[in-house]
Amino acid sequence: MTVKIGVIGTGAIGRDHARRINQVLAGGRITALSDVNRASAEAVRDSIAPDAEVFATGEELIASAHVDAVLVTSWGATHEQYVLAAIAGGKPCFCEKPLATTAEGAKRIVDAEVAFGRRLVQVGFMRRYDAGYVALKQAVETRTGAPVMVHAAHRNPSVPEAYTTPMAIHDTLIHEIDVFRWLLDDDYVSARVTFPRSCARTHAKLRDPQIVTLTTAKGVVINTEIFVNCHYGYDIQCEVVGEDGVARLPEPMAVRMRLNAQLQNPILTDWKDRFVASYDVELQDFLKAAAAGTATGPTSWDGYMAAVAADACVAAQENEGEAIAITYPARPALYV
Ligand code: NAP
Repeated sequence: MTVKIGVIGTGAIGRDHARRINQVLAGGRITALSDVNRASAEAVRDSIAPDAEVFATGEELIASAHVDAVLVTSWGATHEQYVLAAIAGGKPCFCEKPLATTAEGAKRIVDAEVAFGRRLVQVGFMRRYDAGYVALKQAVETRTGAPVMVHAAHRNPSVPEAYTTPMAIHDTLIHEIDVFRWLLDDDYVSARVTFPRSCARTHAKLRDPQIVTLTTAKGVVINTEIFVNCHYGYDIQCEVVGEDGVARLPEPMAVRMRLNAQLQNPILTDWKDRFVASYDVELQDFLKAAAAGTATGPTSWDGYMAAVAADACVAAQENEGEAIAITYPARPALYV
């Protein structure tokens, strides 16, 4: 079966996902496109998806008989309305992070999906599909013994001028927040933030770097350094310390050079290159589940839990050094 896919939001990632579905993956075809900027949707139709119809609104696209499943890749603040419309229409929906910009909004999606009674939503937390994290999870489950601590870092060479302190949580740490819940099969109970002195490359509205400490229900303490003006490269580090041993996230493949009296390893500089293969795997997973009328992978509940933890981390930034409790309702049976 070929799943007929509609894409809402044809910016950078929407265009790239449309290309994946029409040119790389099996089992899907782009039949519909929509963007507030109609010319952007038309450009994607002309370059990537010649048989797609361009719709004026996301809601009209979702209602189309030529759309079996939906990709929501528009601006984050619009995700909730489109995911709710997809659930109301009973159509599987892949939603880029964030699922919603507030925990309340993500909870409305959880409630709508639970009321519908079947999983329809996959959230685009693509790190769960990265070969390195998959191997790390296997090592943690079979080799290291029970995890005790995690040391992690999320470093970007630089960020745009408009990037501010809370964005380090909502736009950057959000990937760690999700992937560590999955990696450790655990939930968070508190968040704490410590700020070293700010680096010279930052600006008045961004305290950088920062260290976020998350504690889990099983008592694991996770320290993550966020340093978005680190200058030297885009670098994701993660080390899990267990009762019996330590497991480290593999480095991206790179050619090691002996050159100019130095042993050298190149480091990536663009985040787009770091998890590029995992986008293919997550969307292939989505197409397979959508063909069966359902969804797989990261759930609406995961999107909601990430939003709850992110809000606590922002509160922890505003109350430096204080442990902020992370609380949430019982997990609905649909997500067990
Ligand atoms: P982008 O290039 O700005 O694209 C967003 C597109 O959505 C733009 O074309 C925008 O149009 C359009 N849009 C805005 N409001 C809309 C609405 N109400 N209905 C339909 N389209 C609308 O941003 P992006 O980088 O592709 O990011 C899109 C989403 O993907 C964000 O939520 C981002 O966080 C997420 N993302 C995830 C990853 C990941 O690693 N998983 C990576 C990149 C992005 P205008 O430009 O005209 O406003």
